[in-house]
Amino acid sequence: MKIAVIGAGIIGVTTAYELAKDGHEVTVFERRMAAAEETSFANAGIVSPGYVTPWAAPGMPLKVVKYMFGSHAPVRISWPLASSDLAWMWRFFRACDHDTYVVNRTRMQRLALYSRNRLDQISAELQLEYDRSLGNLVLLRSEKDRALMEASLEVLRKTEIPFREISREEAYKVEPALNPDTPFHSAIHLPRAEVGNCRQFALLLKNITQRMGVNFMFNTSVERIDTTAGTAVHVTGESTPRPFDHVIMCAGLHSTRLLQPLGLKIPLIAVYGYSLSASVREPLNAPRSAAVDERFKVAITRMGNRVRIAGSAELGGNSEAKNANAVNTLYKVLNDWFPGSANLSNGVQIWKGARPMLPDGPPLVCASGIPGLWLNLGHGSSGWALSCGSARAIADLVAARTPDIDLDGLDIARLGL
Ligand SMILES: Cc1cc2nc3c(=O)[nH]c(=O)nc-3n(C[C@H](O)[C@H](O)[C@H](O)COP(=O)(O)OP(=O)(O)OC[C@H]3O[C@@H](n4cnc5c(N)ncnc54)[C@H](O)[C@@H]3O)c2cc1C
Repeated sequence: MKIAVIGAGIIGVTTAYELAKDGHEVTVFERRMAAAEETSFANAGIVSPGYVTPWAAPGMPLKVVKYMFGSHAPVRISWPLASSDLAWMWRFFRACDHDTYVVNRTRMQRLALYSRNRLDQISAELQLEYDRSLGNLVLLRSEKDRALMEASLEVLRKTEIPFREISREEAYKVEPALNPDTPFHSAIHLPRAEVGNCRQFALLLKNITQRMGVNFMFNTSVERIDTTAGTAVHVTGESTPRPFDHVIMCAGLHSTRLLQPLGLKIPLIAVYGYSLSASVREPLNAPRSAAVDERFKVAITRMGNRVRIAGSAELGGNSEAKNANAVNTLYKVLNDWFPGSANLSNGVQIWKGARPMLPDGPPLVCASGIPGLWLNLGHGSSGWALSCGSARAIADLVAARTPDIDLDGLDIARLGL
């Protein structure tokens, strides 16, 4: 079949790969000049099925209010907020109750596990070489931070995902460079989790997918989708629409602009985050893999010969203006846990990315309700961890095959649209 994929972030590239593997004739439309130039560019790189979780969680509303006005707040609000942001926040807070959280977390975890396995298969089969390391250590500064993890651990205990609650002493064995001067309560160790460079993976897979015959059209913006007689893609600057048997929407945050005229009002907003990437100054002071500061929601990860510090959640504002406090928090957290690990005096890459986030957590991997139009979007803070599984599942749906995993709750019916 002739299939269009809109967007060449990690979701679009993995989707194109799976469709090509199934023998379809695939065209990818990407408005930027290369793959993974937007949210998939410099994320923390964590692929940790046990840590994939909705942000709408018990205790979160209180946390947002408590830390909102502090200089090192994990969540920030930039004014003015659009009415869509306010409507989103209302749905977010309503999804924070224990039962809703457990349901959504279970859905995400199922997809994350499947995705992790598919990522491993693809990497092995195609012999992809990108910066990777094994293990994720979640650092809990206080007993209260540990208590807030309980709902999450409750779900984790019911899965096959290996994890251990460990003491400080044990944590130093996992990450020997952890600063002994920073006190903390305990940690959770997920030994099978990994850190991988999402952008590197996307670029390598895009090259292979291209060799499989997929047509990547860069610098090509999709203006609108026509579903009146079959599915057709209108590209900016072209007078004739391009017809396809199917169109898969993988345009991340920007999907809403293309879907709204078709009557699909998806509550997807940007939750901005930041990352700093710096070369390793002293390997003995640097993390081996991933360490996440649960209080500040900041991840410190090893990307080959670089250290990456990523975090912050900013609602409102725009993609250009960088919040100095948010960036300072990243430096502070790095300094708390791995001082002296990175070369911060020059060449630090400071990046701001927009997580395409639905209010209750799980992404949409589903039919749109409009024949021929499919959705693979809204992966929020876990798009890299969920990409390979989402791509395989959507390719199965398009081929009218039953996917290997239960996609319950990953459809638009969940959102009550
Ligand atoms: C600070 C930070 C840290 C993160 N850490 C992690 C992590 O550790 N692990 C994890 O799993 N995830 C993480 N994420 C989330 C992850 O980066 C995202 O979920 C993921 O990149 C989303 O991928 P995407 O392909 O949906 O979106 P994008 O990468 O944004 O891709 C969408 C693409 O569509 C294109 N596009 C849009 N509109 C059009 C149009 N009209 N025509 C043509 N092309 C179009 C865009 O140019 C873009 O290339 C993090 C995010 C941030 C911001």
